Amino acid sequence: MLFLSSDCSLLGLCYVIKSRAPIWHAETQSESVEYLWTRRWEQSEPRNKDLIKEPFKKVPGWDGTRAIWTTLNRIRTEQGRCNYLLHKWGMVGSPLCECGETQTIKHMVESCPITMFKKGLTKLHEGGPTAIKWLEELNTRL
Ligand SMILES: [Zn+2]
Repeated sequence: MLFLSSDCSLLGLCYVIKSRAPIWHAETQSESVEYLWTRRWEQSEPRNKDLIKEPFKKVPGWDGTRAIWTTLNRIRTEQGRCNYLLHKWGMVGSPLCECGETQTIKHMVESCPITMFKKGLTKLHEGGPTAIKWLEELNTRL
């Protein structure tokens, strides 16, 4: 059965849902986009928040290959293909890493004796040649 808008008036069901943030309010603000992004960033609590100093700028690696870009973002947000998350989603039998610890993205980058990026998360975030090489040589696709 096809439902037409004229049907709702017959049934007395029509009402308009008001937007909590109508677009015309955003367009008339006098603050700059950079200020608004910075304020919103300061009010939020994303993982590894300290990596991003200027939230209105593109993060390093955005101009690289898609594989590198997505992997860097998965590491920054700690939401990639690791045994901890795969186990949580019922896709693998164990959350453990080959080294015996729980395999989170943070573990893989910062403390795993097998996969650790020795220069640290901040250097990895910057996406320099050493970071790109590490990402390419990583056995696991995050
Ligand atoms: Zn490990």
